[in-house]
Amino acid sequence: MRKYIVGNWKMNGMSADLTEIAAIASVSAKYASVESALCLPATLIGRAVSAVEGYIIGGQDCHMNASGAHTGCVSAAMLADAGARLTIVGHSERRADEHESDADIRAKALAAKAAGLEVIICVGETLEQRDDGKALEIVLGQLAQSLPDAASGDWLSVAYEPVWAIGTGRIPEDKDVADMHREIRAQLTTRFGPAGAAIRILYGGSMNGENAAMLLSIPDVDGGLVGGASLTASKFEPIFAAAAKSAE
Ligand code: PEP
Repeated sequence: MRKYIVGNWKMNGMSADLTEIAAIASVSAKYASVESALCLPATLIGRAVSAVEGYIIGGQDCHMNASGAHTGCVSAAMLADAGARLTIVGHSERRADEHESDADIRAKALAAKAAGLEVIICVGETLEQRDDGKALEIVLGQLAQSLPDAASGDWLSVAYEPVWAIGTGRIPEDKDVADMHREIRAQLTTRFGPAGAAIRILYGGSMNGENAAMLLSIPDVDGGLVGGASLTASKFEPIFAAAAKSAE
């Protein structure tokens, strides 16, 4: 499995940033053993696709319906029409801010698949849940309820993102990442068999150029979902380099 490094720009990015997006695409091309994509605000997707020639651009969410009276929302078909090839669904910021349920996320994943997009489904526990000893139960519960029955590695990846590690500069102990990814893998293979063994499990939460080599060396960490450190080519490149090195 090639390491999969995906940037998530969240609510960042203006026209002026298209040159940075092109710079990211061009540094990523230096690391042929690494698969990479950048998930952008919907407003930038079409122009970014035109600016980067072949580099994979994605969205950060989609509506569960294909079209209709949903003011302000963007459907998976619209993302695909703009040139996106994947979308994130179920990011913890959407689970918290928009009260998205596991059932919503499952429906969004299926809508994205129907539109021909690859999908990254995010799961992760809050600090309170971890401190209460419930991290595993929460994450495996989200996984069981958010993933549709048709899940397989050719269109779906999972991102394990401890909520308390996102944007904070804190990361879990390597043993805790290893334990969680092993348990996620076990659920995926029990439920989906060989198709589950091929689903990539990304780690997300304050991954950067300093910690990426360690995080990407942990068994069953098949890549990273990267927020802050994906905003510039100079911060993102060391993560590509670490991913390439881990594949040697
Ligand atoms: C994210 O947005 O999914 C994320 C992991 O952010 P950061 O890398 O900034 O913690």
